[in-house]
Amino acid sequence: MKPKERVLNALNFEKSDRIPIDLHNFLVCAKLTGKPFGEVFHSSSLIAQSQLDAHKIFDHDMLLIEAGVATLAESCGAELEYPADTSPWVKTHPFAELNHREIKAALRNMEVPDPAASLPLKIMVEAVKIILDEKGDELFIMGRADQGPFSLAGELRGINEFLLDLAVGAEYIEDLLRFTSEVYFSYADAMMRAGSHGTSMGESLAGPDVISPELYKKYAMKYEKEVISKLKAKGYIISNHICGNVDAILDDLIGTGANIIEIDGKTNLKSACQKAKGKTCIMGSVNPNVFAHGTVQDVRDKTIETIEAMKGNYGFILGPGCALGGDVALENIKAFVETGKESGKY
Ligand SMILES: [Zn+2]
Repeated sequence: MKPKERVLNALNFEKSDRIPIDLHNFLVCAKLTGKPFGEVFHSSSLIAQSQLDAHKIFDHDMLLIEAGVATLAESCGAELEYPADTSPWVKTHPFAELNHREIKAALRNMEVPDPAASLPLKIMVEAVKIILDEKGDELFIMGRADQGPFSLAGELRGINEFLLDLAVGAEYIEDLLRFTSEVYFSYADAMMRAGSHGTSMGESLAGPDVISPELYKKYAMKYEKEVISKLKAKGYIISNHICGNVDAILDDLIGTGANIIEIDGKTNLKSACQKAKGKTCIMGSVNPNVFAHGTVQDVRDKTIETIEAMKGNYGFILGPGCALGGDVALENIKAFVETGKESGKY
């Protein structure tokens, strides 16, 4: 059975020979090149080659192509720092110095970046095309579209300011979320038009570790749901990832309509398995800390525990709960994939 088929079966809640396996490993890939990460993330061919090289080592079923959580913010004018050994991050938030009224006014003149013209987006879309040419028949390639509407809004304003503004219901909030929804949609659409088999949104800022479930529903879920439904209307497969423990919002998260919900190691996997069954595919959820600080045996034990918790649910993709750090021991990742293949047979 081709790895791609295995993933598609999971998305349709159908049985395969075994559980499909993904790796959230763009930092591990970058590390494998031996080059400064900033150089890798500025080159389509290095991103693509590093993913393909990593696949030769780990032999997983599904590739997640991304360069962290700041690509869309950069395309909207944020200034980024590209460290040598980790993900790029937003250094200067475009709306940091503006008051609420000024943000509202600025948004009237903002244009949605064109993924064919905006360099950070273009680099990622081109990387996905190279990978698809090479492995698109065999593997499931997810061209990730970075941040969802809520998290991108936070990066454009500055996260702390944005959360404070949210608490007082600042007048620009809905305008900004409408704008970031359009920005997100345009990039996700470009990833899919490039041939990706699926795309994703990351909403790291929208989980109960950061905002209340009420605010999630009112501001984040509303726009996630709208944009996901627009993407699904085009026949696209879309995944929604929120970091941390999402037990308190899991029903709403499933209610966004995403084909895949990516959960973190902190979320109760058994209850996620029951709630999601037949509605959405669960992806996860071995904690990246186990990869980073555990032994090979720890990784094996945690992987088996994860597979056990999902017993009886074919709508499952085994993967790390969040992005793996660049320094994770390759032996731990190999042990994870091997254990998944051995113990994940149906
Ligand atoms: Zn995460």
